[in-house]
Amino acid sequence: MEPVTTLRGVGPKLSERLEKLQIRSVSDLLFHLPLRYQDRTTLTPIAALLHNEEQQIEGIITGTTIRFGRRRSLVCSVEDESDSLTIRLFHFNKGQQAALQNGRKIRCFGTARRGKSGMEMAHPEYQLLDKSPPPLEQALTPIYPMTEGLHQRTLFSLTTQALQRALHEVKELLPTALQRNLPPLQQALSTLHRPDATAGAEVFKRCRERIALEELLAHHLSMQQLRQKSRKEHAIVLSPQRTLLDRLLQQLPFSLTRAQQRTIDEIFADLKNSWPMQRLLQGDVGSGKTLVALCAALHAVESGQQCALMAPTELLATQHQQTLQSLLLPLGIEVGLLSGSMRKTERKPILEQLQSGALKIVVGTHALFQDAVQFHALALVIIDEQHRFGVDQRYALQQKGEQGSYSPHQLIMTATPIPRTLAMTFYADLDSSVIDELPPGRTPITTVTIPESRRDEVVQRIHSNCQQGRQVYWVCPLVEESELLECQAATEQAAELQKQLPDLNIGLVHGRLSATEKEAEMARFHARELHILVATTVIEVGVDVPNASLMVIENAERLGLSQLHQLRGRVGRGSEASSCVLMYRSPLSAVAKERLETIRNSNDGFEIARKDLQMRGPGELLGRRQTGQLQLKIADLTLDQHLLPQLEQIAPQLLQGDPTRIDRLIQRWIPQGEHYHSVA
Ligand code: ADP
Ligand code: MG
Repeated sequence: MEPVTTLRGVGPKLSERLEKLQIRSVSDLLFHLPLRYQDRTTLTPIAALLHNEEQQIEGIITGTTIRFGRRRSLVCSVEDESDSLTIRLFHFNKGQQAALQNGRKIRCFGTARRGKSGMEMAHPEYQLLDKSPPPLEQALTPIYPMTEGLHQRTLFSLTTQALQRALHEVKELLPTALQRNLPPLQQALSTLHRPDATAGAEVFKRCRERIALEELLAHHLSMQQLRQKSRKEHAIVLSPQRTLLDRLLQQLPFSLTRAQQRTIDEIFADLKNSWPMQRLLQGDVGSGKTLVALCAALHAVESGQQCALMAPTELLATQHQQTLQSLLLPLGIEVGLLSGSMRKTERKPILEQLQSGALKIVVGTHALFQDAVQFHALALVIIDEQHRFGVDQRYALQQKGEQGSYSPHQLIMTATPIPRTLAMTFYADLDSSVIDELPPGRTPITTVTIPESRRDEVVQRIHSNCQQGRQVYWVCPLVEESELLECQAATEQAAELQKQLPDLNIGLVHGRLSATEKEAEMARFHARELHILVATTVIEVGVDVPNASLMVIENAERLGLSQLHQLRGRVGRGSEASSCVLMYRSPLSAVAKERLETIRNSNDGFEIARKDLQMRGPGELLGRRQTGQLQLKIADLTLDQHLLPQLEQIAPQLLQGDPTRIDRLIQRWIPQGEHYHSVA
């Protein structure tokens, strides 16, 4: 491949900057596509200017003065036949002031804004014209993704060179059947780099779609490749007698739901394989994922192996450890805990037992995969609430867990459902199980929305609830973008409630408490020593106190749908009818209103996720995948959702032809080595 340094004007410094944009070859430049375009092909009459749009005008200067307002500015009036416009420069020099003479003709390109006295442009690009003004641009001006020290001009010149030199060499890699309905790749690239203003929106759209499809396909294929790669790895076959498991199930006060049973069977079938399991377990909040995880863990233990369970927060890790320990103690199995805040002296015995193999199950946060942690025989890694971890972290984890030539099996659990088409594209490396049923005997949570002005009523209701032996969560979510302020708000709220309800015991957990303090407070809540637990969103995931049957969420209008659903999932875990009060500050925006209504009307996580997808787009749902290394250049998951179902059909067609095409496609869109950095 021709390196970018073969282009005119590219020296060591520039090539270093291009490297930051992952542009190494001339062909990489062709796939560095514009983010958007500016239209300098026409002039807009001043009277027809649209507010907040980039437009171009031409007119005669009728006056230039310096204004001394809050900020000194150079103000210049320009007139055309239709109207007049104000140009405002906050940074200017004497020369500019002198040049903007009355009677001169000027051409400006910039964003028009409606000001106090008509339309204005602040710092437009401008050009003073003489008798023979240069012609208007023939084509739209592409605006490329940038990095520091690089100019649009430079990228324009480089892409122009690349188009001339290398466009004709770009190979079609999609199957011919598809190409018939779409513009050829070379045409699509050329159109996106240098759109023809006369060609029309439809042609442009088709060209963009051609490229987006290829990009999505490249990601899909790379995920599939990961899956194939992991199939070639070795894992320890786990197929033990189910003695311990049977004893565990007998001792439970309930039986497994059918959905739990099914997912456990799916997992056990995977664990029998000599390659590592990569399974995503999706199940709504409260569907009983922990028990499924426990069964998988026991399977490892019965095979003489170890299992590590990783949780996103210390609070959750602690709770999982306690839950598992209480269930496994009768079987004589110890469950260890490793968290970042533990003292060296506390960690040491755990580390030793993990290394010797004496400890079979350990729960922890990221701390589990630090260098000091050595396992004797780690065969299974379970990750809870996966949406907090990126794909890169998962693979880093897997590497850490390797022993000799063996990789651990992986089970990834999430309560945030991922719509099927998205999962196919972005989780194509995973198999998927769904727990689509809640344990019986749950009474659905009643959700109400109440304006903050009726707070006193809510407090009264809490009082009578607590007198009947119920427990209450009071959640104070982020109001300002600051953890400190969030903690302060929760602290004040707890004090306020204590004043209003002097006969009740009120506890408090927030992110600024140490892990030990948090644990102690949770333990008191668990033991029913506390009536009310005031908390920040630290309790969002996983916390399980079945006797808590009322939740109040303040500032509910500020939270996203899945976050609200996650929070609400902390109640409704016992047999008691539970309720959730969403307190909001009026007035509500239309979107906030729709969100609150959605959450009030539905208890179904999958339905809520669909709505979330509609309202926010998939980027948010995928989290780090979108914002991390899997940055999409052209494809937009909201705009291009309809392309996703095709991907699964195209992939096998590609394999049938020339299989090296797959590698070339991936290489084209996902530069090697960028995909999964080790994060530890
Ligand atoms: P999540 O899927 O949100 O992680 P948990 O695993 O925390 O859910 O389970 C929620 C609650 O449901 C726990 O109190 C657990 O003991 C209980 N539970 C799990 N499975 C069953 C079942 N089959 N029948 C009744 N209760 C169950
Ligand atoms: Mg859970």
